[in-house]
Amino acid sequence: QAKQLGGNLVRHFVEQMALDYQRQVQLRNALQLALDKGELEVFYQPIYDTKTREIVALESLVRWREDGEFISPAEFIPIAENTGQIIPLGEQVLELVLRDIYQHPVLQQLQIGVNVSAQQLQRYDFASLIQARLAHHQINASNLTLELTEGVFVGEGKATVASLQALQDLGCSVAIDDFGTGFSSLSYLNRLPADVIKIDRAFTAGLNEDPELQAVVRGIIELCDYLGKTVVVEGVETAEQCEIFSQLGVQRLQGFYFARPMPLADVLKLLNS
Ligand code: C2E
Ligand code: MG
Ligand code: MG
Ligand code: MG
Repeated sequence: QAKQLGGNLVRHFVEQMALDYQRQVQLRNALQLALDKGELEVFYQPIYDTKTREIVALESLVRWREDGEFISPAEFIPIAENTGQIIPLGEQVLELVLRDIYQHPVLQQLQIGVNVSAQQLQRYDFASLIQARLAHHQINASNLTLELTEGVFVGEGKATVASLQALQDLGCSVAIDDFGTGFSSLSYLNRLPADVIKIDRAFTAGLNEDPELQAVVRGIIELCDYLGKTVVVEGVETAEQCEIFSQLGVQRLQGFYFARPMPLADVLKLLNS
């Protein structure tokens, strides 16, 4: 009977794998159509100054609607990374964002974040692409913040540092996204060509009841202060978290407590109100 059970488990497992695979193939094909037809959209999530509670930056986040339903980036970005579709996807998002900035001068007063995949840095001279696209849309480099996860520093360390340096030389800001979840240690922080550190929302979620975690976050913040880097905390969902991070001296806050990612029209309303 145990054998029977084991057989069922294996069958279940194999069936599940086949389903996952089918879904991935389906998504990959549908994503290709969306890319070909230029159907991707971007939403923007406001980032607030802790003290003034004003919007000082926006993060652009890709959105994909299939038959009226949003598919989560958490599901299709990894697929796009596997298939190489992340390259055209990244280019399309950049164009959408630069076009929005060009068309809406109020966005030229803010730092606009764009998420960048490690592959975009490795595939070609990314800084030159950025420079050309900024020039084409007549946008200042200082308007743009490029968000990269810590993962980009694993392996191709030196080449990555050089491309990030090139982006900074252009006048763009570089942000390390999801800080604390990856591989870089605190001692690494001073060697990263980064202007902004975005502390991952895993830290935010666990902070209330965890004094040790608070100590770690305090350490990150003090070191960033010392190194002249701006700290953003992501995933702020409650007034209590907001209070803790304010007291810890974090400069910028982002999360559902303040605002969700939203279409451009809604951000413009917020900015003008
Ligand atoms: P990320 O860059 O760390 O973006 C923040 C994510 O956290 C967003 O999810 C946002 O909606 C979510 N978030 C913001 N505040 C809160 C909060 O208070 N609570 C919770 N639970 N979540 C919050 P989203 O839009 O689903 O994107 C997920 C990830 O997909 C992003 O994480 C980023 O790594 C990737 N991504 C999104 N857009 C792009 C893009 O244009 N290019 C690339 N390469 N990756 C992208
Ligand atoms: Mg990001
Ligand atoms: Mg993040
Ligand atoms: Mg994240």
